[in-house]
Amino acid sequence: MSNKSEALSRRFEAAFMPNYGVPPVALARGEGSRVWDVDGAEYLDLIGGIAVSSLGHAHPALVEAVSRQVATLAHTSNLFLHEPEVLLAERLIGLLGAPARVFLTSSGTEANEAALKLAIKYGKANGRPYVVAAENGFHGRSLGALSLTGKASIRDQFGPFPADVRFVPYGDADALKNAVTAECAAVFLEPTQGEAGVVPPPDGYLRAVREICDTTGALLVTDEIQSAIGRTGHWFAHQHDGVLPDVLTLAKGLGGGLPIGACVGFGDAGTLFAKGDHGSTFGGNPVSAAAALAVLDTIESQGLLEHVKTVGTLLAEGIASVEHPLLKGVRGRGLWLAVVLTAERAARFQTAAQHAGFLVNAVQPDAVRLAPPLVITAEQVTSFVTALPALLDEASHD
Ligand SMILES: *Cc1c(COP(=O)(O)O)cnc(C)c1O
Repeated sequence: MSNKSEALSRRFEAAFMPNYGVPPVALARGEGSRVWDVDGAEYLDLIGGIAVSSLGHAHPALVEAVSRQVATLAHTSNLFLHEPEVLLAERLIGLLGAPARVFLTSSGTEANEAALKLAIKYGKANGRPYVVAAENGFHGRSLGALSLTGKASIRDQFGPFPADVRFVPYGDADALKNAVTAECAAVFLEPTQGEAGVVPPPDGYLRAVREICDTTGALLVTDEIQSAIGRTGHWFAHQHDGVLPDVLTLAKGLGGGLPIGACVGFGDAGTLFAKGDHGSTFGGNPVSAAAALAVLDTIESQGLLEHVKTVGTLLAEGIASVEHPLLKGVRGRGLWLAVVLTAERAARFQTAAQHAGFLVNAVQPDAVRLAPPLVITAEQVTSFVTALPALLDEASHD
């Protein structure tokens, strides 16, 4: 580490609360799927700001849309409406292909707060006092979203929570069936669990969940904050299963790096909030809405959904083709994958990758998450696959 990185790390440590520790790299700039640190070292960005930088860094369409909007009208609050937010809501509804209403936020956790308030309102009106969520699921850090998050280490110390949440093992339709009665207001699920280590459910699980919700009258809320906006090769991950939720939450990839999230209610769920029930000053601000429109336009005009399927397959097959005692396999879909290890060496792998010029994320002790920009090239993907055996060797040593 050179002087500049080291000095910044020390200042970060002194000035910030210790909740993040000190991140290992100080980034200065990016272009496409490449980023450079403050000392000029170059990296291939295989994590994309945690599935956020859909168009990569400094994409001309995003730069143009954001620059134009910030120079025109940066903020209105919800006291006034503006065209970019209307265009964005209409665009999302069009992509979803079903009658729906949208609430815009500035982050993922806020999208889930909105969804939870919808569920609570629905529950109170119908004698349904609890909700169901999955063990190891992640829905955010604010107290409502945290109450849905099934990870004791980040959850328990902050209880009691505003909602009665019952947890079931992810992927087990029978357990869900037992937990969801006529007194359950809603089921909150990720279509694939992201923070748990990119863990897809068994085939047919989401369809079974949809059926259980239809039978009991519980709302199905899919948290697609990490999985949507082309990440899996579809606009939305639920489209792989042909299952439409009642409520859908989005954020991460939607703004391509600008802060924006959405809570979408389908059919009757779209009109559960009455005037005054909810709000956000920054939610759907014009700059973030313009960014999201640029992201959606570019995914469409550049054929990025097809591209994600092609390079995602190249990446997954490339990883699967490597034989190494530390490599167990690969899971996930599109450009959202986990390199699964046979031992708890993901942190070492992440460091080895960083030293070799690749940014990855040790999402679990034995799983390394890859969620690169959707614009990553076949050559860039191949460069990682080529380096993989050496990275696994390096991660195997103490
Ligand atoms: C990241 C994430 C969240 C929280 O989003 P923030 O923008 O960090 O608040 C919620 N749910 C899922 C599935 C996520 O991946």
